[in-house]
Amino acid sequence: MNATSLNAPVLIIGGGIGGLVLALELAKRNISSQIYEQAEEFSDIGAGLQLSPNAVRRLKNLGLETALGAVISAPDQICLSDGLTNAHLKNIPLGHSVLEKYGAPYWVVARKDLQAILLAALEEYDCVSIHLGKKFINYTQNPPVVETNGLIRAHMEDGSTGEGVLLIGADGVWSRVRHMFAQEQTPQQTEMIAWRALIDADTAPQLFKNASDLKNPSNLNTTGPNSTQVWFGPNSHLVQYRVMGGDKINLVAVTKGKALTKDWASDLPAEALFEEMRPWNKSIRQAVMAVEGWSAWPLMMLAPFKPWSRGRAILMGDAAHAILPFLAQGAAMAIEDASLLAELIENHPDQPDKIVDTFQAQRFRRCQRVFSKSVYQLQFYHASSYLAHIRNLGVKALPASWMLKQYDWLYKY
Ligand SMILES: Cc1cc2nc3c(=O)[nH]c(=O)nc-3n(C[C@H](O)[C@H](O)[C@H](O)COP(=O)(O)OP(=O)(O)OC[C@H]3O[C@@H](n4cnc5c(N)ncnc54)[C@H](O)[C@@H]3O)c2cc1C
Repeated sequence: MNATSLNAPVLIIGGGIGGLVLALELAKRNISSQIYEQAEEFSDIGAGLQLSPNAVRRLKNLGLETALGAVISAPDQICLSDGLTNAHLKNIPLGHSVLEKYGAPYWVVARKDLQAILLAALEEYDCVSIHLGKKFINYTQNPPVVETNGLIRAHMEDGSTGEGVLLIGADGVWSRVRHMFAQEQTPQQTEMIAWRALIDADTAPQLFKNASDLKNPSNLNTTGPNSTQVWFGPNSHLVQYRVMGGDKINLVAVTKGKALTKDWASDLPAEALFEEMRPWNKSIRQAVMAVEGWSAWPLMMLAPFKPWSRGRAILMGDAAHAILPFLAQGAAMAIEDASLLAELIENHPDQPDKIVDTFQAQRFRRCQRVFSKSVYQLQFYHASSYLAHIRNLGVKALPASWMLKQYDWLYKY
């Protein structure tokens, strides 16, 4: 039996980046899928995403290089600075250095651009159906144990159902699929808020324009048209990079803070951000205060756990492992999950137990490592007082090439 002769489609719950990439990976292999997304339409929330070489490699393999090429920015470097003084600490080269070292580039993209490209690519395939406004509530498996010809049925809030060979929970950090069989695994509130804004580059505060403009002499060792800028502050940090062909600047600040709701974009007023940045360098804080449209995203985390599956239901992406954004790897891990899952479904179409076992066996340690490193990176980014001083001395002293090498295990994958 080969993949094309599967007797039912793969059901994908959630049309986020993970669910869309999985559907495309399957379609490329001629495997049909049904996506069930609770939203009535695809929204453009989410601002920017950094796509490291491990993610870009897979997106290129899906044939998206040309489409992405029109909308991504390829920063030539990451500039690290101190948020208390605005002093420059180090530039870590990206651009050609990363391409040569890892065989794939480091890109940044607006989430809505990546989403639009994935949706356009999916339109080419008859074997993919996307159902919007479908909120998954539960599943039934018949027979309940995994047998060769068994099926799994997904039930939606509106009473509709779908039947498939596998049900993939790509439904994010508050996964309902996970709730069905691992109710005890609940995301942890971090008491940190990610503040996000997407602003026009033309009218942006000068400080943000300069920081991503390498013609500015304060951006040392410059070699190309743009850079990603990170400022470390006490218990906080700020990142900026250009997206949408350089027309927009994506800003993300992470500070301490309590969310008002568990939802992504809660209504927390931006004054809370300005207050958390009170100790920061005056010009950075003023630039932050001049930006309108900050939205607050409560940061959750969920360590990888076992098992990620029950029978024919499998979790992937944030549903299985919600990783703090300090390594910019959450979407990248969802993309890696999707490509391995599709490969396993293709190779073992009539062995669902083998698919679920191999998936967890191959993904667990890597996701755990990325999860732990992200927590470590939080301590590094948000250090204060003498620890911040030691961090800054270390960053200044260490060669940039050595710093990049620390990510070999992550980016070569
Ligand atoms: C501030 C911040 C910055 C980040 N920056 C980066 C970065 O630079 N690089 C990176 O790789 N990652 C980054 N991430 C992480 C990344 O955004 C997530 O890890 C990634 O979006 C997870 O994708 P997903 O498809 O698993 O889940 P999601 O994107 O959450 O998608 C889940 C989908 O499922 C749908 N859904 C939920 N419940 C149901 C239901 N019951 N029925 C039907 N549909 C349902 C939702 O509506 C949603 O569309 C960042 C995260 C944050 C918070």
